[in-house]
Amino acid sequence: MKRLTVLAVGAHPDDIEIGCAGTLARYVQEGHKVYISIVCRGNAGTKHLSAGEIVKIRADEAKKAAQIIGAELIMLGFGDGEVFHNKEYLTVFIDLVRKTRPDVIITHPPEEENFHNDHFITRQLIIDASIWATHKNLDMKTKYPPTEVIPSLFFFDQYVSGFAKRPTHYVDITSTMDIKKRALLEHKSQMEFLKELFKMDFSEYVELIARLRGLQCGVQYAEAFCQLSEYPRIRPYRILP
Ligand SMILES: [Zn+2]
Repeated sequence: MKRLTVLAVGAHPDDIEIGCAGTLARYVQEGHKVYISIVCRGNAGTKHLSAGEIVKIRADEAKKAAQIIGAELIMLGFGDGEVFHNKEYLTVFIDLVRKTRPDVIITHPPEEENFHNDHFITRQLIIDASIWATHKNLDMKTKYPPTEVIPSLFFFDQYVSGFAKRPTHYVDITSTMDIKKRALLEHKSQMEFLKELFKMDFSEYVELIARLRGLQCGVQYAEAFCQLSEYPRIRPYRILP
């Protein structure tokens, strides 16, 4: 297969590590180019720190996690709870697609499997942007030339609220589970915050879900995905690792 470009888009720092870091690490190991894009700064992810303090910490954590995975990080810099489907956001998302020119996009699942508006609006923005990125003459101030291809698109398991009953694809992440865990553990501030907020240990959670998905497909650890099976995103070959 040719060298692919993969774009993983998550609303907040840590969403990507929880959802698909094992798969991204496998893409990297197989010689493909991986971008991780995070929409929000993570400014609301604290009970104790100022916005300025937490934003700096979370950017630093996201950078270290992306380095462990071997991905290039692109922070879009919007505020937590402020993801809207409007022209401003669509322009930024179209430029994200035009800059990275992905063959594959991985993002959040649909609204019914999602408890958080930042997540499912991010999902809709990247779906729409990946179509409009191919069109010229848009009445938007974009910085990059149109793309050629509408990419394949997959949704990861949304933690706690959204597990696809019948995933369309599984990826064996037994060999990259250690990378996934180490990348997740870099998000120390978020893990502490979520422990306070939901009384949940996210490293335990990630281990459980990866093991469950592994049991379902006969390996030690796996990540599960649903494909957006719509024209023209379908390929006559497997594009996930
Ligand atoms: Zn999130």
